[in-house]
Amino acid sequence: MNPSIEIIPISKRIDDSIIHLKKITIGSGSPRLFIGASIHGDELTPIAVIWKLIEYFRVSEVKGTLTMISGMNPEGIAFKKRVDPYFNTDLNRVYPGDPEGTLPQRIANAIYRIAIEHDVVLDLHTAGNCIPFILLDPIEGDLRKEVEDLALSMGITVLDEYLGDKYEALKLGNSLPPQVLKKDIPSFTVELPGGSNIDWTGVNVGFKAILNLMIHLGMVDAKKNEITETFVLGELGYRRYDVFANRAGILENFVRLGEFVEKFTPLGVSRDFVGNVVEWIKSEKTGYVISLPSRSIVYPADRVYLLAVKE
Ligand SMILES: [Zn+2]
Repeated sequence: MNPSIEIIPISKRIDDSIIHLKKITIGSGSPRLFIGASIHGDELTPIAVIWKLIEYFRVSEVKGTLTMISGMNPEGIAFKKRVDPYFNTDLNRVYPGDPEGTLPQRIANAIYRIAIEHDVVLDLHTAGNCIPFILLDPIEGDLRKEVEDLALSMGITVLDEYLGDKYEALKLGNSLPPQVLKKDIPSFTVELPGGSNIDWTGVNVGFKAILNLMIHLGMVDAKKNEITETFVLGELGYRRYDVFANRAGILENFVRLGEFVEKFTPLGVSRDFVGNVVEWIKSEKTGYVISLPSRSIVYPADRVYLLAVKE
């Protein structure tokens, strides 16, 4: 099946050229799955996942509708920036947006309006040197159960978002999935490895995980893919937890992705130019290592590790 590509005009640049989104549609009817990629312009692995899905469905059938927007932050991607380059706005903090607002609000609103026409909505991101994982927003009841079942069907690690205070402080309630959930539509975030560089193992795992979801939804007739390329924490009830550096230094890492660490285990040590220890970076909680530092230089308040913890 060949995709149909629709241009969604948003606004014009100062040179009169059109800022637009490309809406890619494969198939028709129900169920309807929406996949958005790279609302953060420096997170490119998800775009390659969409390339792979387009290729796959050129020779395979979709039952229902697969809608994708590849490059949800076109100007950020063009300028190699996470945010929108004109207003320095994080597009994933302004949903549901505003059709008469600023450019970032207009882009977010156009995406939101397309997303809520679907039965399931996925938002693809990257989280650096990490295992692939799903993030669930804080919701309760039947919708929570539905979201959990869909997330688990993908075959990768499923984590809960930060606790309330941090969730509020980071304005995560204005990202796409929680705004879609308000419409009673199941939605969640998928974090893949990589960033400005595409991580090709992440592309493969992301692709397989999405096919698993589509098999679960009855959209694809195939055998479920086993995810063997990466660690998978096969249990719900863990949440993401950051470990920060307190001082500037050069880090020696001691742990691997997926490693189980007890509370107070040293994850790494940072040193100065002559090798003196500046800081032992310890796990603070018992859990699994979900992401490692992408760079060896750390600064105060840098998030150095991400853990999956139960408390
Ligand atoms: Zn992101």
